[in-house]
This record gives sequence, structure tokens and C-alpha cells, in this order.
Amino acid sequence: MGEKIYIFDTSALIKGMDVSVLQEYDCYTTPGVLSEIKNNLSKQKLETAILSGNLKILSPDPDAIKEVKFIAKSSGDLQFLSTTDIGVIALALTLQTKLFQQDEIPFAEVPIEVVTDDYSMQNVLSKFSISANSFMQKGINQFIQWQLYCPQCKTIFPSSDSSFCPKCEVTLKRRPIDKK
Ligand SMILES: [Zn+2]
Repeated sequence: MGEKIYIFDTSALIKGMDVSVLQEYDCYTTPGVLSEIKNNLSKQKLETAILSGNLKILSPDPDAIKEVKFIAKSSGDLQFLSTTDIGVIALALTLQTKLFQQDEIPFAEVPIEVVTDDYSMQNVLSKFSISANSFMQKGINQFIQWQLYCPQCKTIFPSSDSSFCPKCEVTLKRRPIDKK
């Protein structure tokens, strides 16, 4: 079984860039993430990492993108994910599937970890049994079911299809439903 593979999202590459991680492990990101990095210093560091082969740029399979969207919709996360976020999750799924087929190891034991501090991404990744790691925050261990509410009138919306409060005309916010 190969060693750990890390996949980075935009915030992880900007804030938590640890060059030693890039040198030590197999590291990937998507073209979408790369195009979101505008800061010159981060860009320069990344270009060096790419040129030296420490960071690989790979596009996710279209099928994986479809599957991620489907799962994210059912968990209520889709509206909180950007196209780039979906691409990063889909790349993890693409690599996981590939390794699973090549090495015949159990799907959930493929040593892939996505580095992100985005809760929606972590939530969807957990549905695919892919671990998420945030170098900055404590991640979630369990699958979260979200509750949508209006930040103004505090009304709770049971359906994850609505994104606006019809009364106040503001975008709904969300919080995890407390299972206790
Ligand atoms: Zn309201």
C-alpha cells in the first residue's frame, strides 16, 4: 500500500502551506484551485512546487463530479460549495477509485486525505469515507445534518431546497442540528 496522498483546497494552499508536507508526501490539487490563487508569494511557492514535481495538478473525472454533486445535494451542502470545492472533492474521489482498483485495498482504507477547513467539504468527504484534515481547525468526525435558519427572524426552514427567507428576503444561514 502506498503512502499518504494529500489533496489541497485553495485555503489550505494559501494559509497552511507547509513546504515540507509537499516534499514528503504525494500532493495534488486541481486546475481550479490553482487559478484561484492570486497572491504572488503563494503563487511563486506553488509554481516552484509544481516544477519540482512536489505538487501535481490533476483534473477530476466528470463522473466523479456528478457523483459529488448528487451526494452534496442530498446532504444539503451543495449550495455552500463552489465549483472549485466540488472539483477538489471529485479529485479525491477520482484518486480513491483509481487506487482502489489498482491495489485492491478496501475503499475506505485508501490513504487519501483532503486538506481543507471548509465544513461543507468535510461533510461531503465523510460521505465518501475520505478523510479530511484541517491544519488550522478541528475537523468534524461525524456526519452533520444542517439546519437552515433565517438570521433575522430566526425561522427554521426544514427543507434544504430553500436558500432565502421569503419574509425578510435574506440568505439563510445554517447550523448543525444538535443530536443530543
Ligand atoms: Zn426571516
